[in-house]
Amino acid sequence: MNEQRPVPAGSSRLTIDLDALRANYRSLAVRVAPARCGAVVKANAYGLGVAQAAPALYREGCRSFFVAQFCEATALARAIGAGAEIFILNGVDPGNEAFCAEQNFLPVLNSLSQVERWRALARTLGRALPAALQIDTGMSRLGLPQSAAMALAGDASFAREVELRLLLTHLACADEPERPENSAQLAAFNAVGACFPSVPKSVANSGGVMLSSDYHGDLARPGVALYGVDPGPADAGLRPVIGLGARVIQIRTIAAGTGVGYGLKHVATAAQRVATISLGYADGWPRSLSGVGAAWHRGVRLPILGRVSMDSLTVDISALPEAALAEGDFVEFLGPSQSLSDVARDAGTIAYEILTSLGTRHTRIFVENGVAQTFAAGEPL
Ligand SMILES: *Cc1c(COP(=O)(O)O)cnc(C)c1O
Repeated sequence: MNEQRPVPAGSSRLTIDLDALRANYRSLAVRVAPARCGAVVKANAYGLGVAQAAPALYREGCRSFFVAQFCEATALARAIGAGAEIFILNGVDPGNEAFCAEQNFLPVLNSLSQVERWRALARTLGRALPAALQIDTGMSRLGLPQSAAMALAGDASFAREVELRLLLTHLACADEPERPENSAQLAAFNAVGACFPSVPKSVANSGGVMLSSDYHGDLARPGVALYGVDPGPADAGLRPVIGLGARVIQIRTIAAGTGVGYGLKHVATAAQRVATISLGYADGWPRSLSGVGAAWHRGVRLPILGRVSMDSLTVDISALPEAALAEGDFVEFLGPSQSLSDVARDAGTIAYEILTSLGTRHTRIFVENGVAQTFAAGEPL
């Protein structure tokens, strides 16, 4: 591995394996073929860094990208250029219609008022404007009611003003394959879809990709699975994409009766060797892991003692030989010994939240084809 240029040493290291990301995309694309496979890269590619992740997906053949907001579409377009379609899942904010159209972004029109504002701009510009249309089939989050969408299908001026590139819906329970609501949503969507025979259809997020091919439509929209997280109960054979290590700042031995951390929530019952690590909730390491989670070193579990602080946490290293760990060494938080799903379970949350909370203080090392590109903490990617 050759480092491209020296960067300041960091206190924590986030490694992003772009080869694994590309392999996951490939495996999802094979699963949904002959449907096309897009990629959801909202929230900075789930915290990984969209400027690196999206071009890697593009190189793997992805040509349809989904973000949540206009500002994300702008960053994405800078990263991948004009060769792919960019859908904005939350639609177009009032006043942003012209910016959106100018950049050729594709807003997902979710309500009749969004539809109306997009049509108004189309009339002003005197040309049809491309967009996607979302149907609410039971999640009650975003999208037109089925009846409203069907009415649009019969509206000739709508067809002149809006060039529909995609008809989509979103599944509320795709991560629970046995839920009957999945097939109910699909049936409702297909009934609306029949009114738009020439428009490509999209149903599946990562969980939907793992359901039967009935859910794959013409274009799949996986997010979390790309980043190595199984969306449902089954092992989907995805490769982990990120690793996280953080440095030991200080090591000490405490006597029985000594407290550790805010609130002194841990009190040693016997002499104990402890290490304070440079990782805290400001780095996205949830405070709910206080007294619950662990770091790892060479396969040995190092339980978190007491509360997680903003910038540090303390672990028990009594199980390690004394020479095994020194100040400045890195211990593992995500890697072979501990997966994102392990951490999410311990923290009482989901892997999505851990990923998107990781923050900007980590040194980021993107690895692709054996080449590592390193960005210092806080440096724009
Ligand atoms: C976030 C999102 C996705 C991707 O979901 P994953 O569960 O991460 O695969 C797909 N579609 C919509 C509408 C979304 O909001």
